[in-house]
Amino acid sequence: MMLKDEYKIVIIGAGISGLSTGMAFAKTYDLTENPALIIEKQKIPGGCVTTFARQGYRFDTVQIIPDVSNILKFFEIETELTGFGNTYARLLLVDKQSKKLKPIPIASDRESFEEYLTENYPDNGPQIRRFFDYCTKMHAELNYLKTRPGFFDIINILFRCRKILSNSGKTYKQFLDKFGFTNPEVLEILDTFSSFSGLSGNRCASLLTACAMVTTLKGSYRPVKGFISFPQLLRKKFEEKGGTVLTGTGVKRIITENNKVTGVELEDGRKIKATYVVSTADTRITFEKLLGMDVLQKAGKSYARKVKNAEMSPSAFAIHLGLDDSIDLKKYGLDCGYSVFTTGRATHEKIFDQWESGGQLMSEEEFHFGIISPSAITGGKQTLIFHVVPANSEKWIKLRETNYELYCEEKMRVADFYTDLVCRYLIHDLRSHILFTDVATPATYARYTGTPDGSNFDMMPVPGNFGKNRLSIKTPVKNLFQSRFSHGIWPSMQAGLQIVDMISGGKIMNGNTSLGE
Ligand SMILES: Cc1cc2nc3c(=O)[nH]c(=O)nc-3n(C[C@H](O)[C@H](O)[C@H](O)COP(=O)(O)OP(=O)(O)OC[C@H]3O[C@@H](n4cnc5c(N)ncnc54)[C@H](O)[C@@H]3O)c2cc1C
Repeated sequence: MMLKDEYKIVIIGAGISGLSTGMAFAKTYDLTENPALIIEKQKIPGGCVTTFARQGYRFDTVQIIPDVSNILKFFEIETELTGFGNTYARLLLVDKQSKKLKPIPIASDRESFEEYLTENYPDNGPQIRRFFDYCTKMHAELNYLKTRPGFFDIINILFRCRKILSNSGKTYKQFLDKFGFTNPEVLEILDTFSSFSGLSGNRCASLLTACAMVTTLKGSYRPVKGFISFPQLLRKKFEEKGGTVLTGTGVKRIITENNKVTGVELEDGRKIKATYVVSTADTRITFEKLLGMDVLQKAGKSYARKVKNAEMSPSAFAIHLGLDDSIDLKKYGLDCGYSVFTTGRATHEKIFDQWESGGQLMSEEEFHFGIISPSAITGGKQTLIFHVVPANSEKWIKLRETNYELYCEEKMRVADFYTDLVCRYLIHDLRSHILFTDVATPATYARYTGTPDGSNFDMMPVPGNFGKNRLSIKTPVKNLFQSRFSHGIWPSMQAGLQIVDMISGGKIMNGNTSLGE
């Protein structure tokens, strides 16, 4: 592809952050005068958000999006989304002693969910009501946050965002503790929301979990044509507006001069000048490989320290099963967005403890993983996905490199293990319906996302990566931005809007952190 020598903005990566940045730029500037280029090292855009087809089965990598209709409207993009009926998620709780499974529905809206909990757990009614009221008010405080707050903004935030400020250093478990719940099952149910952030409640930042809960209970969806339709539509619109997307070539280096970004060098050696560069690559890749820590260190010591200290999120296994037509997945309550199948929140924490010391707890007595059936929502040949977080990266990446045959055998062993658990407790004859199995390991994620250890959610959503420790979108290198502020499709779209809002002096959101209704 013929490229110009110079662009106003060069965006590294055509995932949701990169494409949203491109679209926000295209909506704010005339691209004939301010050309915009997105560079993607993979052949197709989308990054973590994709859909792959095998033997006629279609599998999405991601499962749920909250209501992003305001952003889509701003981008002038129309896509068909479908909700999850009355139940958007399920907790499939297995009692370790009795070995009995108890399915607990999580309603698709806050009112119904709160009503279900107060009716079924009247002993904790006041705590439940106080919890939802508090979370809703804390979520509303997000409207007062500014991307780069000035003096008066800080005063306003101190005054209006008290709940956010008092909980920003807390884990979700610490946050739940303050409501005085006494019924352990209520705690199990509310803990489901930390699983959606890929962490146990003992680790996950309270703010992220509670606010994500409020957001998803306002509406959660799947694109009817698969998640890949999202990046496809964003790309199409960006190109219609005059933007350029270069695929199949990566950026090798971010070029700077006197602490200011001046362009990028591609893997094929081409150099492109740019006024602004936005990197949406993995945080460590951006700073350690593309920019260089020495350059960052010179530009801002404290930012460089935060990069070094940032804890990265773990990797995962995703077991994809293609099933025959004779199984009725709705019968098992799998026609919802996500089911958490677990022997309890203590198990989840135990699995994380083992992962931290390099192990992988795979026990028939204690387990915790997600079950999703995309086909039960959007149709097509029947599919099931098991999502297992965390997974030990080092072992899998090494094994794939050194002994591919054993790697393939081992990953099928992992698939068998989790399939057996589902057979035992939920779908007894599942094995007889399986026609296809594919397993993504940390090595798969490392290859496709380009993260060194297959990290699924970039920086871990722990309190240590939040608040004053958070890496700001604007880097200390002039005109260089990074989008990895918070994970998820909605935050990735917001990051794109925030970056262009900063570049344009507030033309999109007037310095606010989100677009608003
Ligand atoms: C298994 C899984 C399940 C998930 N489920 C959900 C979910 O249900 N709901 C939800 O909201 N979120 C979910 N997420 C999170 C969400 O998908 C991500 O937070 C979001 O897609 C990140 O988008 P991004 O553009 O910031 O990063 P990415 O998607 O990682 O995109 C970065 C892009 O940059 C490219 N790139 C990297 N280095 C270079 C280079 N040197 N040159 C050029 N290009 C480069 C990469 O190839 C990639 O395409 C999930 C993530 C995973 C992995």
